[in-house]
Parts: sequence; C-alpha cells; structure tokens
Amino acid sequence: MTDVMPSPSLRLTVDAQALAANWHALDSLPAAGRAGAAVKADCYGLGVDTCVPVLRDAGCEAFFVAHWCEVAAVARHVPPAQIAVLHGPLTDADCAYARAIGAVPVINSLQQAALWNASGGGACHLMIDTGINRLGIAPAEASDPRIAALDVDILMSHLASADEDSPMNDRQRRAFVAVTAKIAHRRASLANSAGIALGRDYAFDLTRPGLALYGGVPRAELAGLIRPVIAVEAALLQCRSITAGESVGYNAGFTADRAMRVGTVSIGYADGFLRLRGPGNALHHCGRRLPILGKVSMDMVVVDLASAPELAAGDWLGVPWDIGSTDITDCAQQNILSQYELLTTLGQRLRRG
Ligand SMILES: *Cc1c(COP(=O)(O)O)cnc(C)c1O
Repeated sequence: MTDVMPSPSLRLTVDAQALAANWHALDSLPAAGRAGAAVKADCYGLGVDTCVPVLRDAGCEAFFVAHWCEVAAVARHVPPAQIAVLHGPLTDADCAYARAIGAVPVINSLQQAALWNASGGGACHLMIDTGINRLGIAPAEASDPRIAALDVDILMSHLASADEDSPMNDRQRRAFVAVTAKIAHRRASLANSAGIALGRDYAFDLTRPGLALYGGVPRAELAGLIRPVIAVEAALLQCRSITAGESVGYNAGFTADRAMRVGTVSIGYADGFLRLRGPGNALHHCGRRLPILGKVSMDMVVVDLASAPELAAGDWLGVPWDIGSTDITDCAQQNILSQYELLTTLGQRLRRG
C-alpha cells in the first residue's frame, strides 16, 4: 500500500448546494407535502456517500431504496427506521434482516404481508397498485385480513405517466384516495418528481422525488425550480495528427477526408458514455464543440480538435450529461436514453474520481 495517489483522468462533480437546494425547493412547494428522497441505485449513480448526508442535513427524513442490499450503505448516514425498501421482503431472511438492521419494508402483495406478519409484524409501508401493474396490492385487496393486520406507516402508490398530461394521472389519484379511506395509515404518498409538478391534489403527506433532486427535469413546470447538480469531465490522454484517408477507432468507424488534429479522451462506455452517444455528439471545452469521431470504446473516445487547437494531454473536456434538458419531448419515456438512464449508467470509475 502507498499514500501516493495517481491523478484522476475522469471526474464527476456533485454540487452539494444545488442538491440541497433542489430538495428544499421540492419540500417547500406550497402545493406539496414533505419531501422524502429516492436514493436507490446509489442515488441514481451520483453516490450514496456523497448525496445522502447532504439530503439528511437539508432536513430529509424519508429515504427510499429498491433492494435490501442497498440499506447498509444508506444506514451509515441516517437512522435505519427512515429507510424504506421498495421491493419488500421475498424471504424470511429479508424479514429477519429488516428487523436486525431496523429498515422498513414496503409490502407489495398479500404474500409479502403474510410473510411480514408471520415474522412478527411491526411498522411497515404498503404499496397500492393503482394501474402501473408492477408492484403493490390491488385496491380490491384492501380489506384482506392480512392487510388489516399490518401496522402501516406510509400508504403509497406510484404514478405511471406523471411526466405526461395523461388522464391516467387523475384515474390513479382517485383510486389512491379511495384506498386511503379503507386502510389505516399514518402518512400517504403518491408523487414522484413529475407527480409533484401535478399540483396539490397529488401531494398528500409525503412526496418521493428522485430524478429532480439530482437535476433532472421531468416536466416543464419544474424547469425554473431545479438546479443542475452534476458535471462530468474527462482528460485528454493524447493528441495526434492524422492525414486524409486515415481512420479512427474500432472498425475504422471514422475516416478523415483531410489532415486533422484529433484527441483521445479518457471516457468510454464502461463509464456510462454509451455507444449511442458517438458520432453526431460532441464534448466541450470553453463553449467550443469537439465532435466525436468513430466508435466509443470501453475506456476512450476520440474527438476532433479543430475548434480547440491549443489543447494538449492533461486538459479537461466537458462531457455533456444533459439530464436537466428542458426539451420535454426529449425527456419523454420513448427516448432513446432517458434522463434516468443517463444518470444510472454513470460508471463506477466516475464516482471514484
Ligand atoms: C424511483 C421511485 C421514485 C422516484 O421517482 P422519480 O421519477 O425519480 O422522482 C418514487 N417512488 C417509487 C416507488 C420509485 O420506485
């Protein structure tokens, strides 16, 4: 082992102030309930150790992960009773783990309710499926004795199309309201980031933003409210001159039609810079576009340095990670790469810096 550190050639910067400001903005919207935070998938790729302390210090007291294996990392920063596990328990071992660590399961089915009750019960959350058909009990199951036996803290449901002006939003909201009257609970929660923008009727007691905390803008109403949180930069590893007829990268994906100066940059698809972000896209330096040439490799991409001839190995380039795009048509779910995917594909090497 050594104390000497190599210099990184790739960096992700998380703006902690912007993250805290985004949480505050969503928490203090007049039309919204208190805000929790979806911190699943390592805070959407930004890193639990970076983001959860910021959200905690901002005042957040409800954290949502998907898997049981995500609990321990979050519990290093917040009381485990504030951590909800969205997938719920599949086995007795999951229930035993919930009790041992003190995290709270989201019960999603009658089977999960029976499993939790058999393990000794205690506070849990309950997911109602109001139409997304993924996880949750059906509204018709609300009167089942296995549900009546639960001690429900957060009664929740999840919107399928909150990022669109779809009649489904109101259908789901009505179905949820009907269930809240049938199941005893302490808090009700329906809205994700986009749902918060749908207004007071969708706020209930607690909201569950994820994307918008991290700088994503799922609906135009949030555009003025949400600050960008992340910046991705990669270093130039080498610059070279090529002549007309020479090619660049695997399968000679680009062939020069003139003499060019090109630069090899330390980012590739292993870092989440996926191949579909190749030709047609660009990296940046001080507002100048550096078009990508040829195929994206695992650890490298090559750019055209025509607009920035002074650059040399070691210089940093901006890698657009356009999650705050306010072009909502771009952000719709039929996107080639959604804002969610842009974030959650951020590679491990970026978080290490
Ligand atoms: C991921 C998730 C959220 C957060 O959704 P965003 O669209 O990122 O705000 C909220 N609720 C549930 C159940 C989720 O799975």
